[in-house]
Amino acid sequence: MLLLAINTGYKFGNNLTSLSRMQPQHILSSRQASWQAATQQVFDIVIIGGGATGAGAALDAASRGYRVLLVEADDFGSATSSKSTKLIHGGVRYLEQAVKKLSYQQYRMVRKALHERATLLQLAPHITRPLQLITPCRTWLEGVYYYIGLKLYDVISGRTHLGKSQLLTRRQALEKLPTLRRQQLYTAVLYYDGQLDDLRYNWALAHTAAAEGTTCFNHTALTSFEKDAQGRLCGAWLHDRYLQQSFFVRGRCFINATGPFADGIRQLAQPTLAPRIRVSKGVHILLPKHMMPGASALLIPQTKDGRLVFAIPYQKHVLVGTTDEEAELIAEEFGPTRADVQYLLEYCNAYLDINAGEADVKAGFGGLRPLVKKLGGHTKDLVRDHEIETDPQSGLISILGGKWTTYRLMARDGVDAAGQQLHDVRPCRTQQLVLLGSRQYSHHTAIALQQHSGWDHEIVKHLVSKYGDQSMLVAQLAQQQPSLAQRILPGMPYTWAELQYNLQYEMALTVKDVIARRWGTQLADWQQALQLIAPVGQYMAQQLGWSHAQQTEYIDGYQQQLAQLIAQSK
Ligand SMILES: Cc1cc2nc3c(=O)[nH]c(=O)nc-3n(C[C@H](O)[C@H](O)[C@H](O)COP(=O)(O)OP(=O)(O)OC[C@H]3O[C@@H](n4cnc5c(N)ncnc54)[C@H](O)[C@@H]3O)c2cc1C
Repeated sequence: MLLLAINTGYKFGNNLTSLSRMQPQHILSSRQASWQAATQQVFDIVIIGGGATGAGAALDAASRGYRVLLVEADDFGSATSSKSTKLIHGGVRYLEQAVKKLSYQQYRMVRKALHERATLLQLAPHITRPLQLITPCRTWLEGVYYYIGLKLYDVISGRTHLGKSQLLTRRQALEKLPTLRRQQLYTAVLYYDGQLDDLRYNWALAHTAAAEGTTCFNHTALTSFEKDAQGRLCGAWLHDRYLQQSFFVRGRCFINATGPFADGIRQLAQPTLAPRIRVSKGVHILLPKHMMPGASALLIPQTKDGRLVFAIPYQKHVLVGTTDEEAELIAEEFGPTRADVQYLLEYCNAYLDINAGEADVKAGFGGLRPLVKKLGGHTKDLVRDHEIETDPQSGLISILGGKWTTYRLMARDGVDAAGQQLHDVRPCRTQQLVLLGSRQYSHHTAIALQQHSGWDHEIVKHLVSKYGDQSMLVAQLAQQQPSLAQRILPGMPYTWAELQYNLQYEMALTVKDVIARRWGTQLADWQQALQLIAPVGQYMAQQLGWSHAQQTEYIDGYQQQLAQLIAQSK
């Protein structure tokens, strides 16, 4: 038992099929073995950070045939990449800025992101969808202004457009968004962008990277570098926080993909480097779905501080955000403050006839935008483009800035730079590389799952929307052990089989990994997350052989952390 508690982790990259027959204990015992293997070889590319950028870079590099190691200090997608507005977009505000400031740089970024939007939708249809967004207009002139702007958005997206922008009558707007405030509603403009389930997309990237041969470790932080006689990076010390052990790995090239934390890694490699990242804090809140029924989203075009606020259908709720406030780097997870909640509710109530109050807030979360520094100005005015920096002395490659929508381009550019450094340039393959979960996925997946499993519509819909074609593996687990088919708690779609799947196939090691990062419950519904902690924790403790101290940390510790996050918003 003690041995099992210590032996955690696995290299799941090359061995997905055999994993299907493994029990969690066996998976855990192979983590140590994976470390042994990792310390014996020289990786071509070591990637630090398992958010969208790092997981995307790992997939890109492994699919080009490089030997890749990906290390993530917490869990995949645990930082900014699960805290986004979940839009795959060119950015209508950036387009407005491009036109107003005649900025070619902004225009290029919008065009690039609009083209990438179509690619992301094709790569993972099970966790993305085209989204209709509606902007209510309080005068006809406003309507014409936005309509022309959004037509330009259509033109720039060219053949990759997701649908044509339209000027709606007041009645048409109310049909799509019945709770829109009627006073001062003259007309509305409808346009299209994409929506993604960011945390599932992040996992799909890591999972696919592993399937392409990447060795992946979550809960593993890079703590220091080793340099050769020429001062070039040649190795790194990594601390596995789950095993409480440190390991030394050798690499020929290192990519820093730590988003808002990038300066820390840059200065570990080269202490004289000046900081390049400026972080801006953005928060979202979740409101009940009945406050904005329907499948369309609302775009509030102008706040007092010159921002946009979105209200978007997300899971069974409405996601409202975001704020944009220059901030210090915050290492711990944070949520909305009371002031943030008031700010977002004020705009919801101004545009929706819902009279929402603090008590209606189901959940909330905050993230840090990693913006590339320019001196002066507001963070909301910074161009959200990315930059690849290679430190000429240490050789560290840093992927700086960017946004979810352009993760693939960021990854491609970072790996291109690595290829040059390795004197072994290979072409990028990710434009056509469909992610795991989407390869056999179609509208028949739900029917097949229902027939195969006998689960009701709610569970089937939930599983397919998270796991795509991989949900058949969840059903297989329930078939092998029928007690796993039961729901964990009544009224929620989570089954024991899904939890077992997360442990067996998805590297979930802590209760928070499951509830916050694989299911996303913490981000959508605080009360449901709190209710799930105890049963999920007890199951994991038994399956993974947790010690008393681990149970305290992963169950009680998480409970306290979440309670604190909730209290901050009151
Ligand atoms: C409020 C908000 C809304 C947004 N909305 C959108 C949107 O709608 N659409 C869009 O396209 N973009 C959006 N973005 C931007 C997008 O979310 C980010 O650009 C993107 O997620 C950044 O990903 P990343 O991988 O670079 O950083 P992160 O996701 O922060 O990942 C960095 C990772 O590095 C890890 N790490 C740090 N130090 C170490 C270490 N020493 N060793 C190992 N690992 C380490 C961290 O644990 C972390 O997981 C939004 C951002 C914010 C904040």
